[in-house]
Amino acid sequence: MTRVKFVAGNWKMNTNKAQAVELAKAVVAGAKAISGVQIGCAVPFVYVDAVGQVLNDTNVMLGAQDAYFEKNGAFTGEISVEMLKDLGAKFCLTGHSERRHVIKETPELVGKKADAIYSAGLTLVHCVGEKLEERDANKTLAVVEAQMKELQPAKLTDPSRLVIAYEPVWAIGTGRTATDAQAQEVHAFIRDLMGKMWNADFASKVRIQYGGSMKPDNAKGLMSQKDIDGGLIGGAALKADSFLKIVEAGK
Ligand code: PEP
Repeated sequence: MTRVKFVAGNWKMNTNKAQAVELAKAVVAGAKAISGVQIGCAVPFVYVDAVGQVLNDTNVMLGAQDAYFEKNGAFTGEISVEMLKDLGAKFCLTGHSERRHVIKETPELVGKKADAIYSAGLTLVHCVGEKLEERDANKTLAVVEAQMKELQPAKLTDPSRLVIAYEPVWAIGTGRTATDAQAQEVHAFIRDLMGKMWNADFASKVRIQYGGSMKPDNAKGLMSQKDIDGGLIGGAALKADSFLKIVEAGK
């Protein structure tokens, strides 16, 4: 089964409007020459519109980092999936470790958001990953399994619109990357688990990204692993040249 690799930048709460537009333009310019890899940028809510205008009709997909599960109504400060779709967003993250552990989103909330994003027709990038103390206590696979079970197989039926991002929390923004073998072990576990939650055919079609200090110099090794189908890139996505080098490594 050949899965087209998907490399997405997660800009987090960075850039101002001018910088966001400039970064998007530089990514688009470099991405023009790249084929065979799906490329995306998950941008801050307030710049989705401006960046969307730059990404429109290019091979770089517009994404968001979060969305609320209700369609509209009295949810002060929240942004719905419909609003993001209205601005051209094609994919959206859920369960990023910063939302789980800094913003304190519960598994129940993450699951509702995942359902809303997929049901609205967007590609869902569902992030899972263990904290350092959980890895040290040999709980990695149990933590990842519980986070995978936030998803509802009966509703998520199109494998091309589901992406799992395995992001060990201890590797995010720390400069400490999982080794190729450590990452592959968890990716293989996730694929096997999806085989049980859905079926083997479905599991073979879902892309599983690695995230956690992926950089131009370690991207090739990670993405050459059998079950690593791309990357979710934080820090290195804030510079077009390093992001594009990672995209190239996915070819
Ligand atoms: C992320 O936030 O999803 C991420 C992987 O960050 P970084 O690449 O900076 O570790």
